Amino acid sequence: MILLQGLAPSSHPVSVCLKTNLCLAYAFSGACLDFENFEFDAIDSLEADAERAAYDSLAALKHVRKHANGERTVVRVNGVEIGGDRFVVMAGPCAVESERQVMQTAEAVARAGARVLRGGGFKPRTSPYAFQGLGLDGLKLLRKAGDAFGLPVVSEAMTDGQVELVAEYVDIIQVGTRSMENAALLAALGRCPRPVLLKRGMVASVEELLQAAEALMAHGNPNVILCERGIRTLGKLTRNTCDLVAVPLLHQFTHLPVIVDPSHATGRRSLVPALARAAVAIGADGLLVEVHPSPKTALSDAAQSLAIPQFERMMQGLAPYFGLWAEERAAEQPAATAR
Ligand code: PEP
Ligand code: MN
Repeated sequence: MILLQGLAPSSHPVSVCLKTNLCLAYAFSGACLDFENFEFDAIDSLEADAERAAYDSLAALKHVRKHANGERTVVRVNGVEIGGDRFVVMAGPCAVESERQVMQTAEAVARAGARVLRGGGFKPRTSPYAFQGLGLDGLKLLRKAGDAFGLPVVSEAMTDGQVELVAEYVDIIQVGTRSMENAALLAALGRCPRPVLLKRGMVASVEELLQAAEALMAHGNPNVILCERGIRTLGKLTRNTCDLVAVPLLHQFTHLPVIVDPSHATGRRSLVPALARAAVAIGADGLLVEVHPSPKTALSDAAQSLAIPQFERMMQGLAPYFGLWAEERAAEQPAATAR
């Protein structure tokens, strides 16, 4: 609510709710200072039109849009069901650094209740001088650790040319935030038999995330998991801003599972457990969490990686929230429609 007193003639103090940027621009263009003739209905109708257009464009996404009967997609990997009746925690190092590091982490996260092991081999780093991952050697170590502790593994493919190689070693292929709009990668993964964990682009809308998922499915891959990992906003105290409401919003529009990555969403290990609990309470299908046996020496994402005891405490801290999780599930509506 913005009080525009003073702009209007003094005998007509007006308080106006400016709902959209369009309205804001219109309001300050000068013409609108005549509040008595201001066409609020026209603005309301523009907003309704825009909202309807957004619904219509989502309704055109025939693969990802929610089924009328509300049926959800359950992605199955080696006995683990993502999007099913149990919350799934995926955990592991940002990057695989050594056999000892990934083995130690896999053992610990499996013991604490994680059911999928994560770990980067090919790392998309912002700086070309930062650790770029062990590549194929990293994938081999990840596979070995997953097999040793009975965990399916997830790792990123950065290019369409890497898809075949990554698919040889991992059970779920991750699309990183920087790649959400890489059409060639999405097409190659669409043709790949492995499930895909699709991260939201750091400046992508929920609609764009769904469009990217549609591309994967339109190319033939029915097993897509969406991941909210934070988007860019103002401020430097967190790496990103977690758009947590994207979880129930996505669940209104799509049958695909939705998980939350509290590590990249915050960039700070002290904030990861609280966001993880919130993700359970809001009905996410799972988490993707970075864990390292010695976070201070981690070669990537050190500040957001949980030490093993911190991860264990985080897992224990989730337990009281599963009642809320079940309630959220039970309250889920069949399919969203325009107002
Ligand atoms: C990661 O999972 O380590 C990663 C690079 O994620 P994002 O693409 O979300 O930054
Ligand atoms: Mn990372």
